[in-house]
Amino acid sequence: MTADFFPQEIIRKKRNGIALTKPEIQFMVRGITDNTVSEGQIAAFAMAVYFRDMSMDERVWLTTAMVNSGNIMDWSKAGLNRPVVDKHSTGGVGDKVSLMLAPIVAACGGAVPMISGRGLGHTGGTLDKLESIAGYNMAPDAELLTKVVKNIGCAIIGQTSDLAPADKRFYAIRDVTATVESISLITASILSKKLAAGLDALVMDVKFGSGAFKENFTDALALAKSITTVANGAGMPTTSLLTDMNQVLGHTAGNAVEVRETIDFLMGKNVDPRLLEIVVALCSEMLVISGIADVTTAPLAVKGALSSGTAAEKFAQMIAALGGPNDLMTNPDKHLPFAPIRRDVIAPARGYLGSMNVREMGVAVMDLGGGRHKASDPIDYGVGLIDIKGINEKVGPRIPVATIIARTEKQADIAEKRILSCLNIVNEPVTTGPTVRQRLTKEDI
Ligand code: URA
Repeated sequence: MTADFFPQEIIRKKRNGIALTKPEIQFMVRGITDNTVSEGQIAAFAMAVYFRDMSMDERVWLTTAMVNSGNIMDWSKAGLNRPVVDKHSTGGVGDKVSLMLAPIVAACGGAVPMISGRGLGHTGGTLDKLESIAGYNMAPDAELLTKVVKNIGCAIIGQTSDLAPADKRFYAIRDVTATVESISLITASILSKKLAAGLDALVMDVKFGSGAFKENFTDALALAKSITTVANGAGMPTTSLLTDMNQVLGHTAGNAVEVRETIDFLMGKNVDPRLLEIVVALCSEMLVISGIADVTTAPLAVKGALSSGTAAEKFAQMIAALGGPNDLMTNPDKHLPFAPIRRDVIAPARGYLGSMNVREMGVAVMDLGGGRHKASDPIDYGVGLIDIKGINEKVGPRIPVATIIARTEKQADIAEKRILSCLNIVNEPVTTGPTVRQRLTKEDI
């Protein structure tokens, strides 16, 4: 280790609430990447940041140092002739928005090289959903990735080990030391991966509510402000939307079941209005921030890509180009697993669905084997929940709250019990706020 600094002195300084300098932060990140800073020191550093926090300048330096810990994708020589733009969500239950958004934005003239992750805990991961499609290759080589983004306009792939490797080690340690929740560290973690993907612009979907990482709106707003400020400070134009995760997004939660809902959505069938609202809002922001459209024309372009079928075509082309089947849209049953047991979940009372604990709905998917307790767990792609009701929809003896798709009766029993215990059935519809609660641009901060 080049002893310009000592990790313990940097930790002590942060522990005492003193702002770190850029070289000190760069030194820590170098040490995290090359293993010269020990796991114990990283844990202590994370805890010091958790309690003492970082200024916006420190967050920008931490983010940039983590970006520079690995390779940075360079799209300038790929001849894309389109702005490179992506969306990132802080995660939720039933959040299949990325699957729709990448082909829609591609159909509207953007390039979307989307690096997505696996699910952990109650939230699902885009990568798991795509992996439920037989043959889909989420780790193409650089040549194939560039070709797909250039020819089709979008490619959803997995994280590669050379992008922001500091985050990989840092996150694994935070995960087991109760330091994930630090807004400064979340900001650097998310943005380091997005900046390393060489984007021209980013749109953040920061969720709040019972199924979100940040349940409370005020905490979600603080996270959105941090991400928007740091991303713009690091040179990547970024806008954030704060969206409601107090109900499952769309009608399904799981893996293959969410791909089925995506196919239907793109083909204009059984479209959930809240899902449509969020998809249109996020896609429109992406078109606006990358200069493809303005606030008036962007929603029209998005809806046009859906109604004309061009977004559905882009999705089909992307799946086929990355090793999946050519006929997924017309033959989903042939290529997507579906577990054999169906169980309707019937609420104990007739009425309206007044509220649900969305985190518990996500845990019910885990009960079925469709989610992970720890990163190395295998998952069952063919299980999940379908026909999930939204807030203020009627439920009763003949109108299930949801239908469980399970591999075993025992798993179905556990999931059913959990779902029934997390619902509130009311006699009259309740008042709800708009799904997209707030928009945050760099001018708002
Ligand atoms: N997701 C990330 O990628 N990093 C965090 O720190 C939290 C959520």
